[in-house]
Amino acid sequence: MDYINRISELVEHKRDLFIEANDQIWAFAEPRFQEVKSAKLLAELLESQGFKTTWGIGGADTAFMSQWGEGKPVIGFLGEYDALSGLSQQADVAVHTPIEEGGQGHGCGHHTLGAGSAGAAVALKDYMTEAGLKGTVRFYGCPAEENAGGKAFMVRDGAFDGCDIAITWHTGTSTGLQPTGLLANFRVFYTFKGTSAHAAGAPHLGRSALDAVEIMNVGVNYMREHMISDARVHYAVTDTGGTAPNVVQSRAQVLYAIRAPKVTDVQELKRRIDNIARGAALITETEVEIKQVSAYTNYLANSVVGAEMQKYMEALHHTLTYTDEELVYLQKFKDATPEADIQNYKALAQQYLGLKGAELEAHMQKPISDVLFTRYPKGSGSTDVGDVSWVVPTAWCFVSCYSMGCTGHSWLETAQGKSSVTHKGMLYASKVMALTGLSFILDPTLVDKARIALLEELDGQVYKSPLPEGYKPEIW
Ligand SMILES: [Zn+2]
Repeated sequence: MDYINRISELVEHKRDLFIEANDQIWAFAEPRFQEVKSAKLLAELLESQGFKTTWGIGGADTAFMSQWGEGKPVIGFLGEYDALSGLSQQADVAVHTPIEEGGQGHGCGHHTLGAGSAGAAVALKDYMTEAGLKGTVRFYGCPAEENAGGKAFMVRDGAFDGCDIAITWHTGTSTGLQPTGLLANFRVFYTFKGTSAHAAGAPHLGRSALDAVEIMNVGVNYMREHMISDARVHYAVTDTGGTAPNVVQSRAQVLYAIRAPKVTDVQELKRRIDNIARGAALITETEVEIKQVSAYTNYLANSVVGAEMQKYMEALHHTLTYTDEELVYLQKFKDATPEADIQNYKALAQQYLGLKGAELEAHMQKPISDVLFTRYPKGSGSTDVGDVSWVVPTAWCFVSCYSMGCTGHSWLETAQGKSSVTHKGMLYASKVMALTGLSFILDPTLVDKARIALLEELDGQVYKSPLPEGYKPEIW
């Protein structure tokens, strides 16, 4: 299959461009909805390759779409570029040494995700130009995947209208195709207002908002026994109402993350948690304001797009090899990884690779997971790719870019984010994604098949934006 080699060559030909983008965005380390330099860099990269950009999609300044070509099919690559707070870290250093104490860092590899997807869009465009093929290539610049679900705003705004196929990836500690799964997730602020008073002099005049937060949390903790076992509910007290114990707290706030396998399960749990909050307000004679700030829908893997992606992951997997120097580098990070995380990976290898005994032990001696998972965990996190996957047939893969068992959302990932191993994983992903898109350009009947597979997966469900009506992206 000549086109596999040619796409690979096209990616390699411009590898420096994509690697440079990866490394620069790593250094920008901009958090959600503030990815000004990162988004601009990717848009300019794509414009230098003949793409045209539309900005401000979904009401977010750092969301954009760059497009090249004309007519059907329309292939969309999803890219991200938001960093995480508190994950600042020096590159290549295997002890925790932040560049800026408490600063931002790319501890989830979204800089690599964005640059890799841009690489796929450019390579597909280059191939179509050479071969004189018709169709449209889009790159979706998706901000704020973390803690805000930027894509949900873009989907609501119609950014994916007319898009036939969506393709994306994520850096990881193993390589495989993401199946249907992951959890729908809402973030909701509960803000209580009470009455301040001298806590000793006139306690009977006070109505404590902090009491309301505590009672609400107790109520939710009692609810846990009576919710579906796959649901996850977490909270963080974001405002305690002050640090003086001798003043009745007139304000307090708690942020909830409510997750479950289906968005309808989350909606139901939120209804119950809202009622618990109202109950806490009633008990304490305070008032509660309920504000949902993000929504992630559960992910639906498209079997037709996924089959194409799997084919190319297999075809190119032999190219993911590492030099002795890289293996030493990876071992250094594996040694710095908590044992519990290594054991967590071991359990996955056991369950999903079917390894046991000496074979499993030999695999666990490696400093990186270098095999292709043919079955892959459904996952218990959440992603806004979910929202896209309900409206466009979507495939999404993970690619090994870090040392074995490396903890997600950690400084260990930030540290490895500019390594040659990460670059290698990224270029592999670019090739796999460009080829996946090319399948649908070469055989447009696959587009209809993918659409039918999506309808089957939806099984009568219709996408309705889970965001509150009229709610706009904001930094909170
Ligand atoms: Zn991520």
